[in-house]
Amino acid sequence: MSSLPAASTYVVVGAGVHGLSTAWHLAMALAARGTGSGSDILLLDKAEPGAGATGIACGCVRNFYMTSALHPILRHSVDVWMSDPVNFGFQQVGYVSAGEANQISDYEAIQASQQAAGYRSDLYTGADARRFLAELWPDFKTTGVDVVLHELPSGYAGTRQMVWGLTQKCRQHGVTIRSGVEVTGYDLANGRVRQVLTDQGAIACDAVILGLGAWTPKHWALLDLPSTLRLVYPDGTVVEDADMWTYWRLREGEVYHDAPYRTAADRDPPVLHVELMGAPVLGPDGRELEDHLYVYWKNGAERMDRPGVQGGVIPVRIGPDAEVDPYGHASERYQAEPGFADLLTASMGQLMGRFEGCRPQFRERPNGGICAFTPDNLPVCDWIRDNVYLIADSGHGFKMTGIGKLVAEHLATGRPVAELQPFAFSRYADGRTFGAHNSNCPWV
Ligand SMILES: Cc1cc2nc3c(=O)[nH]c(=O)nc-3n(C[C@H](O)[C@H](O)[C@H](O)COP(=O)(O)OP(=O)(O)OC[C@H]3O[C@@H](n4cnc5c(N)ncnc54)[C@H](O)[C@@H]3O)c2cc1C
Repeated sequence: MSSLPAASTYVVVGAGVHGLSTAWHLAMALAARGTGSGSDILLLDKAEPGAGATGIACGCVRNFYMTSALHPILRHSVDVWMSDPVNFGFQQVGYVSAGEANQISDYEAIQASQQAAGYRSDLYTGADARRFLAELWPDFKTTGVDVVLHELPSGYAGTRQMVWGLTQKCRQHGVTIRSGVEVTGYDLANGRVRQVLTDQGAIACDAVILGLGAWTPKHWALLDLPSTLRLVYPDGTVVEDADMWTYWRLREGEVYHDAPYRTAADRDPPVLHVELMGAPVLGPDGRELEDHLYVYWKNGAERMDRPGVQGGVIPVRIGPDAEVDPYGHASERYQAEPGFADLLTASMGQLMGRFEGCRPQFRERPNGGICAFTPDNLPVCDWIRDNVYLIADSGHGFKMTGIGKLVAEHLATGRPVAELQPFAFSRYADGRTFGAHNSNCPWV
């Protein structure tokens, strides 16, 4: 293997979705302006592209967020997905979210914000909502559902296919990707990183871009940044000594389904997401597994060895410390507990006749994955040292290919990018910390 270059204008650390998307878009943006090219960019990963959360994500691409600042980001993301859906494995099947009457005003606000961001969605309430679901899935048990949002640009993607596609894009645009190179520290002077230190030597650089997923807290500490902070909310509420990073354990898995999972019109169904806060989930023996229902699923596609669906439930909070390595399916600590399979399959059976009694079809395999969340569970995209740009997506981000495009625009032009402004780190001190939302899940 050739030795590492002694210098590179840009060093991108981490070849997950954000590192790959940023490197690719930055190469294009520099070339378009005549100010550089992909040969100015070195992308390092201690393992290989897709070794983190990006390689094991469920692959749902949706814009169902109560935080309106995310809606334009997702529009950019879908533009990226649709720029080459074949090589990114993107299926634009849409996304359907269903809820109860207490969520109608949230859904209305989401739809209005999505429309304003140029992201098309249709809203149905009451009997129209139930009819819409039954037309797509005739076996949908619609009792309790009072509102439905149908996002047309959304869908799902194959995670491995997308990693392959992004890696090809980087290479085609001249980015050097070096797998098996671990960043071990940063040579800091006067608030700037002079050199990125690796297990194979030091690399001088002008700017560093971090796309480190669950490893972000470790590098935050390597950059001498504080582990707690003061949060100021728009209503004046102040929280002192909040943890900067909190790990959550995601719970996703697959269920075999031998009959093809199709709509009444014999199409690949939209990704489905249902939150019924007033509906307990009951196991086959009538035991209450959870006092509310929150579940999502889609065609299993790339993940399955036979026909089936892939889905998940609300993640579980771990706390400010976690063992990140070994990561994902290789971790012994963070696999989903057996009760997860009971909850997922019971929730599915409670909503659709075709999944009643499907617990034996749950596919037993390692399925662990943790993410590092920010204090308000929303991304931080900002300079955290004078020449270190952080993309920390708070576990939202397989879908967020558009962040790399926007960060590249900022890096290439030096100008602020409006869509990224709400996600500045300064929001915590400036009273723009994102606030509460009406859901049991940290991600809406
Ligand atoms: C089980 C699971 C399911 C998910 N499902 C979805 C979903 O359906 N939809 C969605 O939008 N999001 C989903 N997510 C969230 C999404 O996968 C992540 O938010 C996103 O992939 C994070 O991307 P990243 O580029 O920030 O980090 P990662 O993909 O984690 O990449 C970080 C990279 O950094 C490398 N690295 C670490 N330390 C070093 C070092 N010292 N030196 C060099 N390289 C280093 C790692 O090897 C890794 O490749 C899911 C996450 C999990 C865990």
